[in-house]
Amino acid sequence: MKVLVAGSGIIGVSSAYYLAKAGYDVTVIDREDGAAMGTSHANAGQLSYAMSSPWAAPGVPYKAIRWMFSKYAPLIVNPRLSFITIKFIISILRNCTTNRYITNKSRMMRVSSFSKKTVAEFINENDFDFELRNNGVLQIFRTNKQLAECKKDIAIYEKYGVKYEVLDAEGCVKAEPGLRHVKNKIKGGLRLIEDQSANCFMFVNKLVEKCKTLGVNFEYGVEINKINTIDGNVSSIETSNGEYMADNYVVALGCDSSSVLKPLGVLLPIYPVKGYSITLPVKEDLDAPQGSLVDETYKVAITRLGDKVRVAGIAELTGYDKSLSNKGEEITTFVINNIFPKATKETTDNEFWAGLRPMTPDGTPIIGKTQYRNLFLNTGHGTLGWTMGLGSGKLISLIISGDNTQVDLDGLGIERYQ
Ligand SMILES: Cc1cc2nc3c(=O)[nH]c(=O)nc-3n(C[C@H](O)[C@H](O)[C@H](O)COP(=O)(O)OP(=O)(O)OC[C@H]3O[C@@H](n4cnc5c(N)ncnc54)[C@H](O)[C@@H]3O)c2cc1C
Repeated sequence: MKVLVAGSGIIGVSSAYYLAKAGYDVTVIDREDGAAMGTSHANAGQLSYAMSSPWAAPGVPYKAIRWMFSKYAPLIVNPRLSFITIKFIISILRNCTTNRYITNKSRMMRVSSFSKKTVAEFINENDFDFELRNNGVLQIFRTNKQLAECKKDIAIYEKYGVKYEVLDAEGCVKAEPGLRHVKNKIKGGLRLIEDQSANCFMFVNKLVEKCKTLGVNFEYGVEINKINTIDGNVSSIETSNGEYMADNYVVALGCDSSSVLKPLGVLLPIYPVKGYSITLPVKEDLDAPQGSLVDETYKVAITRLGDKVRVAGIAELTGYDKSLSNKGEEITTFVINNIFPKATKETTDNEFWAGLRPMTPDGTPIIGKTQYRNLFLNTGHGTLGWTMGLGSGKLISLIISGDNTQVDLDGLGIERYQ
């Protein structure tokens, strides 16, 4: 049986891997000239299974207004608001109630917990280096208010049996010795002990090689133009490289999933939330992060990847524009110099990058069937595609095979919007 996977980011390649393992004849197509050239290219590298929370949460609307007036704001809204941006903001606001937050969080935790299990299985079965670090993820609080507020999250972690520790400034320095230079700026931290960090781009490219050994065919430079349907089935996909036909089709096109599927009446509420990263060479090992952190004040993630440090964050609402802005570079550079002042070397090539997070208003990805019998969705992973990637790939393979998914699928599919 043939499956065509559209998209070779972390989600498409993970789907291809598990489908090939299940015995399908898989082809992956992508318009780029290699794998992980879209949003999976230079993300923050956090495998935040425990920290999987929707952005839309009670209190966020007030915080958002405050952020818009701060110098190094984690949220930037283009003042020329387009229709799609307004629609997205409204749908985010609707999800900021306590009830919706709890529902959305529990759906996301279901996918992330499954992914955590899948990553562990994968590591047992495969021996390849992708700069994985098992140091947990440390949230750094610069104010007593942030420290007090983390109690709400702790109640949720207790409920889900997540291993965590609350640290004072001394404890933060013990976990991350590079923070010793700024101990006076830190009020405390929350460490999610079992979260991890690793290089997504490296992983996807190594997984492509693994997939090839299982017979997966990758075709690059192939732009999808149109999807044809007959009698409730997809019949073919028209591309810049001709027509592709398969028995089943998986759409893993990140932010572009919505525009490609709209003509078919499959309406996905995915909005491209732009983020930035810079990647800098480490100067001195013990002055640099050993694992991954989030500076809660600026909502910026700082991750050690091999002999480099990746600094990533910012949510910019500006539609599909992927251009690099001075503001993005200014904020990420400020945060790394402020919290790890001796970590990185000066360089003329700081690998500054921007990517579009495929965000759904409820933070949950869209995984499952559509109204077309042989068309499946694996998209909308927003801020957590790397975390949820392997689990989502395995999940879509189990759904297509009709096997027991081991995960309650309720609320994960497109039907929740209908
Ligand atoms: C700054 C930043 C930091 C992040 N940090 C983290 C993190 O720490 N942890 C985490 O879990 N997640 C993180 N994320 C989110 C994560 O990177 C994404 O959720 C994930 O990469 C999405 O993967 P994807 O495969 O769905 O999309 P993509 O990687 O974008 O892949 C989609 C593919 O589809 C292809 N495509 C699109 N349209 C077409 C078409 N018409 N024809 C052919 N091909 C097409 C594209 O070329 C692309 O290769 C971060 C994101 C950003 C921007």
